[in-house]
Amino acid sequence: MHLLLSKWVMFMVALTDKNKCLRCGGCVAVCPKLALDLTEHGIECDAKRCVNCAACVNFCPVDAMSLKK
Ligand code: SF4
Ligand code: SF4
Repeated sequence: MHLLLSKWVMFMVALTDKNKCLRCGGCVAVCPKLALDLTEHGIECDAKRCVNCAACVNFCPVDAMSLKK
């Protein structure tokens, strides 16, 4: 069960709604795994680093972040 859960979590990734994102960089700063990066294309998430903690989702002032498989 633990293995299955770990696999499921591994494939979660934080996604950004580019229409809402203010590019404030706050989600990048609060991510404990340094999984987020603010690029010319907006916020990008490294799925290998993301642990699905939702800190970025909870921080975002405009609800632009979500967690998706
Ligand atoms: S915290 Fe929200 S608004 Fe700010 S950069 Fe991240 S996704 Fe965009
Ligand atoms: S869910 Fe957590 S680990 Fe993943 S990008 Fe957001 S803050 Fe970082």
